[in-house]
Amino acid sequence: MTLRFYGVEDLEKLPQLKVLSESYRVAMKAVAQVLPFRTNSYVIENLIDWDNIPEDPIFRLTFPQPEMLAPQLLSKIIWLLENNSPKAHIQEIASHIRSTLNPHPAGQVEYNIPTLDGQRVPGIQHKYPETVLIFPTAGQTCHAYCTFCFRWSQFVGSDSFKFATRESGTFQAYLQNHKQVTDVLITGGDPMVMQARHLALYIEPLLNKEFEHIQTIRIGTKSVAYYPNRFVDEQDSDDILRLFEKVIAQGKHLAIMAHYDHWKEIEPEIAQQAIKRIRNTGAEIRTQAPLLRTINDNPEVWQRMWNSQVRLGCIPYYMFVQRDTGASRHFEIPLVRAWEIYQAAIQKVSGLARTARGPVMSALPGKIVVDGVAKVGDEKVFVLSFLQGRNPDWCRRPFFAKFDENATWLSDLKPGFGEKEFFYELMACNG
Ligand SMILES: *Cc1c(COP(=O)(O)O)cnc(C)c1O
Ligand code: SF4
Repeated sequence: MTLRFYGVEDLEKLPQLKVLSESYRVAMKAVAQVLPFRTNSYVIENLIDWDNIPEDPIFRLTFPQPEMLAPQLLSKIIWLLENNSPKAHIQEIASHIRSTLNPHPAGQVEYNIPTLDGQRVPGIQHKYPETVLIFPTAGQTCHAYCTFCFRWSQFVGSDSFKFATRESGTFQAYLQNHKQVTDVLITGGDPMVMQARHLALYIEPLLNKEFEHIQTIRIGTKSVAYYPNRFVDEQDSDDILRLFEKVIAQGKHLAIMAHYDHWKEIEPEIAQQAIKRIRNTGAEIRTQAPLLRTINDNPEVWQRMWNSQVRLGCIPYYMFVQRDTGASRHFEIPLVRAWEIYQAAIQKVSGLARTARGPVMSALPGKIVVDGVAKVGDEKVFVLSFLQGRNPDWCRRPFFAKFDENATWLSDLKPGFGEKEFFYELMACNG
């Protein structure tokens, strides 16, 4: 199968979109000037229910939606488009709007780029001691872009927003110098957009003796949902699987960190075939996704998704809270609602699906999970804890925030019980 890609110019051409009103389509086009839009023929032909747009969750997941921009910004871009403003001018305005949308959430650029011999090592992030993230240059795109994407700034505009390593040499030197690292997480974008032989340049060296301390290689990918053919009937599908087998044969663990936002993505025959083929190599598939308003903000969606995943041998891993970036104003959900959805879904699945942890905020100090809402004495609080901390000592200490029904992110929360600061703000940070 060959994959065809669709971008902004196709918003006017795609016949399926004609059922939407003219104003809806103009607004979609306006949003796509600011936030990246790309989808593909697999998504269009297999995942979207065109009789149910604009409500269909996969449509909302990949096509720009009018509510993604604040109304006054949307009107401004629409006005520019309708008055045939020069492209360069529209791009200038769009670029300014992007800079106001928190393009680098959780201090990804300032805090997590490590140094080796005093030099910054580009294209990697090292936040938690045991895991290093690698961003291969050729993997900084995706088979389709999610409208909520937290790495959206990689797909647009200026180079300063981008984040990638050009060759695998620099990070190898870094890993050799950091024996406490057990996990390498290859991420993007989506590393599975790379050809097998390119992906091998990153993975194969890690199988050598000097990397004995690396016990797990993880690959973060959305390809299992957006393009499962990648593992079934593409030209180098079998080479990919052979590469996976090689990792396993070397006695390492290979974890495919599969991004699924909705059960609709996992139920097509070809998607199940991809899972089967990946698992036959000895790799495990762990699944994760954020909770998104209008896409999966309903416990039944998660229940059905987690059940399908377990049936197919995948391991549910994280339910994230939508990050404070890009179009988050449209997708975000109050933390209390996120916790209610998580709890309602987890109650209804077997223990084998309760490996899913959430709702988790991947924030500057670490990964913080909302354990629940409690009343202690007269005070209603959120009970929170770190699953990962910039300082490992923070991990799994319960702490409290004043209950706030509107809070959607860590930055909205205040310490509970009259405390001035959260405990981790008082402790020395060695990260
Ligand atoms: C989530 C994350 C990891 C991996 O954390 P696990 O709990 O081991 O899955 C590593 N680095 C960064 C920056 C992360 O956000
Ligand atoms: S797959 Fe991940 S990186 Fe790619 S667009 Fe979706 S959220 Fe962003």
